[in-house]
Amino acid sequence: MEYRASVFMLNHALMSARCVIHGGCVSRKNAFEQNERSFDSMGMLERIKERVAEAVYPRRCPLCGSTLNRNERICSKCSRDVRFINRPVCRLCGRPLYTCSCRKGDYAFIRNVSPLVYTKSAKKGIHRMKFSDSPYSCVYFGKLMANSVRLEYLDSGVRIDCVIGVPMHKDEVMVRGYNQAILLARTVADEIGVPLLNRILIKTTRTHPQHTLPFSERRKNISGVFAVSAPEMIRGKTVLLCDDVATSGSTLNECARTLLNAGAKAVFCVTATISIASEMQAIKAAGFESGW
Ligand SMILES: [Zn+2]
Ligand SMILES: [Zn+2]
Repeated sequence: MEYRASVFMLNHALMSARCVIHGGCVSRKNAFEQNERSFDSMGMLERIKERVAEAVYPRRCPLCGSTLNRNERICSKCSRDVRFINRPVCRLCGRPLYTCSCRKGDYAFIRNVSPLVYTKSAKKGIHRMKFSDSPYSCVYFGKLMANSVRLEYLDSGVRIDCVIGVPMHKDEVMVRGYNQAILLARTVADEIGVPLLNRILIKTTRTHPQHTLPFSERRKNISGVFAVSAPEMIRGKTVLLCDDVATSGSTLNECARTLLNAGAKAVFCVTATISIASEMQAIKAAGFESGW
């Protein structure tokens, strides 16, 4: 009984420590009730380990980084803003059908799919993944992307031979330390059980960040800046191209064009998020920080 009490005290102390991060405090009564339930379903040692892990490495919201409550995948604030894309979707760009203005022949790739609209909270998550090396964010987005690929491509009989991430120029990778599109591509490849081809598609020229340019200049900015280092690796293959955000589609289009010119049979795309006009206006109107 004494040992049991000390475990409870340790649990309580650790739970309280976690709540300081929240800004609130779990009451002693609630802590005791939760603790009592845990004794029934799980070994004490495992429970202690879990509490210590949660206290030292609290689970974070993959979008905004705040501490999560148990069983939450994203925090309550982000869940009010996040917009999952459900059917019907445009079978070309992947936007919800009523928000799409693309036309057949606009793109070299066959289709794009995205699980999320690029809202304020999605933008925060992309920003965290790009600039804070957040593994939570990467796995969260990557798994959602893999689900979209299964639903829209694999279940319809599309056979993907390899996965490729949209490359960054080597100087840009040096500065950031990693390429988030490759991290996403790796998660997607693992999830759907298809090989990731790294360093096959390369970016040979540094460019202005696409988001700093009007749509009309984006195709020109990105034109001719990609190359395929080993065409034999993709010849005759159906490629799944991964990126974090689709806006004008110019980058995906140029990558697809380069892959097809090098002998790929077809290119399908998946991005973690996709912009729609109304949300972009909301982001702008809110004065939300720019710079991805
Ligand atoms: Zn959040
Ligand atoms: Zn469309």
